[in-house]
Amino acid sequence: MRAMAPEGECWRSTGDPGRLYSFCDNAPTDACNWLVPPGSQDAVCAACRHNGIVPDLSDPARLKAWREIEDAKHRLIYSLTRWRLPLHTRAEDGSGAWPDIQFPGR
Ligand SMILES: [Zn+2]
Repeated sequence: MRAMAPEGECWRSTGDPGRLYSFCDNAPTDACNWLVPPGSQDAVCAACRHNGIVPDLSDPARLKAWREIEDAKHRLIYSLTRWRLPLHTRAEDGSGAWPDIQFPGR
């Protein structure tokens, strides 16, 4: 957890003033509050980059379900990161450490 101060389109960590971060592109949906590190080519965070498909979020029921899934997935990614287990996506190495998350009914 970090205290952040806004700076233009980015956020600066008060504990690490030399680095500017962006919020994940999924932040406006309230499905993610993780940061994208400075210099990253990704618009989404380390957890959201595992999404293969994002459901139609105009349906409130799907949005609610997606938020619940994202919450659980973020906890999993956090744990895997702490255990220093690989987090490759299928796009990165052809198989991925675990499959991209697919949502039925889209
Ligand atoms: Zn994210």
